[in-house]
Amino acid sequence: MNISLLVFGSHKFISTLPDQIRYATAFSVEVIGDLDRAISYIQASPPDIIFIQASRDGSMDLCSWLKDQPKLSWIYCILLEDRCQQITDRDQYGWEWELEMTSSALKQGADAYIWQLPESKTDYTLAEVTANHRLILAQLTVGLRKAKKYRDLIRTNDLLSAIALADSLTEINNRRALEWDLPRQIKKAREQTLPFSLIILDVDYFKKVNDTYGHLVGDRLLQLLCVRLKHNLRFQDTPFRYGGEEFVILLGNTTGEEALIVAKRLNRIVSEQPFAINNHQTINVTISLGTASLQSDDDEQGISLLHRADQCLLEAKSTGRNKVISSYDLSDMPYLKAASS
Ligand code: GH3
Ligand code: MG
Ligand code: MG
Repeated sequence: MNISLLVFGSHKFISTLPDQIRYATAFSVEVIGDLDRAISYIQASPPDIIFIQASRDGSMDLCSWLKDQPKLSWIYCILLEDRCQQITDRDQYGWEWELEMTSSALKQGADAYIWQLPESKTDYTLAEVTANHRLILAQLTVGLRKAKKYRDLIRTNDLLSAIALADSLTEINNRRALEWDLPRQIKKAREQTLPFSLIILDVDYFKKVNDTYGHLVGDRLLQLLCVRLKHNLRFQDTPFRYGGEEFVILLGNTTGEEALIVAKRLNRIVSEQPFAINNHQTINVTISLGTASLQSDDDEQGISLLHRADQCLLEAKSTGRNKVISSYDLSDMPYLKAASS
């Protein structure tokens, strides 16, 4: 994995850090001394670990800002205490005060708090420097371990989401994905005042396919149908498997008229060409489709919108199948527009 470190502090400060950090080859190290620049950098490319020089202006603000960011709070934040006053007070008030300081730093958002050797003194023994560096490297190891765990977790999470939202037979999005995506697309369309439409379609007499050729052939037909539908949609139009042989296609930035054109095209490309199940067997099927467009009084979840499209689909089924029925408003139902193929 590509590990990255950010040091928030002066270039002089980095010279107090262990060589393993200063001359790192296993990970990249960026040094930034300005709060605004550090925040922009973190937002653009979040590092795994941040070392913060406590005496730097904005150090505590950076700590607490980081922990307030829901998407960045996993970054391991090591606060290195080099403020003269704090170090003097520690020497004066002893270990109880040191514990107070540590708990205060952790409360403010640091994951680790390390006392640096004061700059005012220069005649440190090798043992003192080594002990300080050992502690820094130990905290670095903890940070790296956490970063690896976090990355593994994200990878597993992405995988599980993909599994949870995909239909295993056709590999397109499933109904759960639709229930998640439809409200989002409706919200987006309303915020951007863009049209939004959807198509619901169902294979005609699909039961007959199963009864005649068996379920495995039925399964294969559904897979081929999805491939054909996908190839005939724009990349932003998303198909979902709504139920057995029923599909919903969300059409962002699409008016009712445009949705009707898309639906008619899909109707045509299914009926015009048979599906080659294998080298010896081809099957002809048709689909019926209903379309509807988002209205101002539609609910946020898309239930009324889906219902309207479903009413159109039912109308298509009951008036002969292999056709598209579109409606821009449920109240227009008596004036449904039929577009037979
Ligand atoms: P209609 O034109 O009215 O839609 O008729 P239909 O026969 O397509 O409708 P019906 O709802 O009676 O039948 C749908 C069939 O689809 C029944 C069900 O067994 C089958 N089906 C649903 N999911 C799958 C699947 O994943 N694989 C297979 N092979 N068949 C499925
Ligand atoms: Mg059917
Ligand atoms: Mg059906």
